[in-house]
Amino acid sequence: MARALSTRLPEMSGAPDYRLNMTGAPFEIVTATHADSPLLFVCDHASNALPAAYGTLGLDPALFGTHIASDIGAGEVTRTLAAAFGARAVLARWSRLLTDLNRGADDPTLVMQLSDGSLIPGNAGINRAEIEKRIESFHAPYHAAIAGAIAAMRGRDIVPVIVSMHSFTPVWRAFRRPWEIGILWDRDGRLAQPLIAEFTRAGFVVGDNEPYSGELENDCLYRHGTMLGLPHVLIEMRQDLVADDAAARAFAARIKPVIERGLAAMGTPTLKFTRPLANGPLTSGVGMDERTREQLEAAAFRRLVAHLRAHTDVQNIDLMNLAGFCRNCLGDWYREAAAEKGITLEKDQAREIVYGMPPAEWKKRYQKEASQEQQAAFVKAHKTHS
Ligand SMILES: [Zn+2]
Repeated sequence: MARALSTRLPEMSGAPDYRLNMTGAPFEIVTATHADSPLLFVCDHASNALPAAYGTLGLDPALFGTHIASDIGAGEVTRTLAAAFGARAVLARWSRLLTDLNRGADDPTLVMQLSDGSLIPGNAGINRAEIEKRIESFHAPYHAAIAGAIAAMRGRDIVPVIVSMHSFTPVWRAFRRPWEIGILWDRDGRLAQPLIAEFTRAGFVVGDNEPYSGELENDCLYRHGTMLGLPHVLIEMRQDLVADDAAARAFAARIKPVIERGLAAMGTPTLKFTRPLANGPLTSGVGMDERTREQLEAAAFRRLVAHLRAHTDVQNIDLMNLAGFCRNCLGDWYREAAAEKGITLEKDQAREIVYGMPPAEWKKRYQKEASQEQQAAFVKAHKTHS
């Protein structure tokens, strides 16, 4: 359906105000112009380029203009949105044909040998050594760049909100996809739900976990969003709406205020964990249902708390200086988790669960006066908290 695209945002007039930093790295970084912006855009399928050494992977060059090589329009929408919000972005520099950055490193579809009916000769029969080389050269550094951006923001006491941009083909296996925008999410609907509502209100045909499901274990958002407890969402755009750079920029201008309203409706970003701890390659084969995994996590937490209760000589300030958290933090985390379940606990009530007694009593019995050295170390380590 035809739809008039809105005019450019004022922030986007004239020269782009984002600073694009292209390095030899397998990713592209857009630095934040608003350092305190909680937004972090990622675009796993931004590029159709291949490093020269890979040629065309034996593919017909014409296929590099199709969705097989990249998510058409997604990169330009991402750059435009990041600039308009003054936010950070991490984009793939190389094509998904090399490694799919939206897959775990152990995913069998990390390197596609066949895509939408086309055999990819340079990937067919690929051996383990070449897969490892590609992970090391392309996949790992890209994810390290996202992790680095998140760590930098956490260091500034920002809870990042990750928005992953993708695009989808209008037709798939003879099915004409009706959606203009797809909002993909797993279990953390904090941002997805308000975005679905706002996009619908703005007149978009919105897919809720369409055309794909957001429940892929070990994909980009599972790793950087779900497992870190950060608010996140994946936005899929239909490719005919973002088919060239000008259309992509106009589309970005059109969806920016919608994203803004979704963020406002979500409220202040906080940490929220919606899945048990992830299995790594060593444990992925261990059969355990989710309830059991949660029970094991609870058992480990109880033992940690029991340990801290027994070792009253271990001072909170030393824990803070060494590890960046202490008994009070554990109590606060417990309190936040309770609040998620609609259970209101006072600060001291939650901390009492960790201390095994009212915090004031523990302090009187066991807390030693902090030395000047300890206090100085605390100030140095936590100056961002002041
Ligand atoms: Zn994609």
